[in-house]
Amino acid sequence: MKNKFCGSQELEAREEEFLSSVASLSKNSKGRQYQEQSCDIRTIFQHDRDRIIHSKAFRRLKHKTQVFIAPAGDHYRTRLTHTLEVSQISRTIARALKLNEDLTEAIALGHDLGHTPFGHAGEEVLNDLAARGFKHNEQSLRVVDFLEGSSSERPGLNLSFEVRDGIRNHTGKKKPQTLEGQIVKLADRVAYINHDIDDSLRAGILTQEDLPQSCLEHLGYTSSQRIDTMVRDIINFSSGKKEIAMSSKTSQVTNRLRDFLFANVYLDSLAKKEEEKAQRLIAKLFSYYIENPAEMPLEFKERAVSEDREQAVIDYIAGMTDRYAISQGQKLLLPTPWFYHDI
Ligand code: MG
Repeated sequence: MKNKFCGSQELEAREEEFLSSVASLSKNSKGRQYQEQSCDIRTIFQHDRDRIIHSKAFRRLKHKTQVFIAPAGDHYRTRLTHTLEVSQISRTIARALKLNEDLTEAIALGHDLGHTPFGHAGEEVLNDLAARGFKHNEQSLRVVDFLEGSSSERPGLNLSFEVRDGIRNHTGKKKPQTLEGQIVKLADRVAYINHDIDDSLRAGILTQEDLPQSCLEHLGYTSSQRIDTMVRDIINFSSGKKEIAMSSKTSQVTNRLRDFLFANVYLDSLAKKEEEKAQRLIAKLFSYYIENPAEMPLEFKERAVSEDREQAVIDYIAGMTDRYAISQGQKLLLPTPWFYHDI
């Protein structure tokens, strides 16, 4: 008798039937580090996606900086909305190329889980402070491998090899092993270049006239046109290939636009003026918790004693949202005024 519902085996069979020969099929996954019963409704990659969405680190992304520190305006991107845009762009590309959309979605949703408060300013200062250095992509892997999860039998979320590989290699020199991971690596760039332009225009840091006209001529004059051009270019150029890339022309123009953003927004603009303070705050919190590990929440405090104190402090600080780091700074580093009462 046929199953009443569409179970994971049927989904796997569908993947085999509809996806490209170079797609990463769920049934061929290299699997999880710790053996466990597989889900009878979801494929392994769908299951991973859900584990990421239900994690606390995922919810904290809503209060982590993308470019503008703890933005008061409701329309600025945060790490969470950035993540959702990367996920959507990745899925569009994966579906058009008949690759595994569920795998790209899981990688995209998890790629920035290890991001520090205050965006790259936070990452930079933790990298200087930590003896072993700090990279947000490696921290994202620590989040899913060790810091999240509630199982008493194994640490972390126990995600599949392919999702872990995509998260770790979404940035840096090494290429993800799957085409789905390579999609996320490019989609991350497509997303941030376009939404950071949009947010900078909204903030008055850039005007439409400031944008390099030769880039706009090729890519389009609005965010929507530019995303469309880049996405179509990736789909057309990568179709039938064993690699995900942009054509050299579009890639060149996109890099020029990215260089423009580095010079005018990321490295030198009004939005950066609070960054020095943010870095000072993180450095203060770091030295405070190294000296006073008992002030951290239980899980970090225990690890600071039994394992590696510096790693426990890094894990705690990297996990903070912008507003939590600010409130800890106020609590720990500023004197509280004495309100006395008549007895
Ligand atoms: Mg990202």
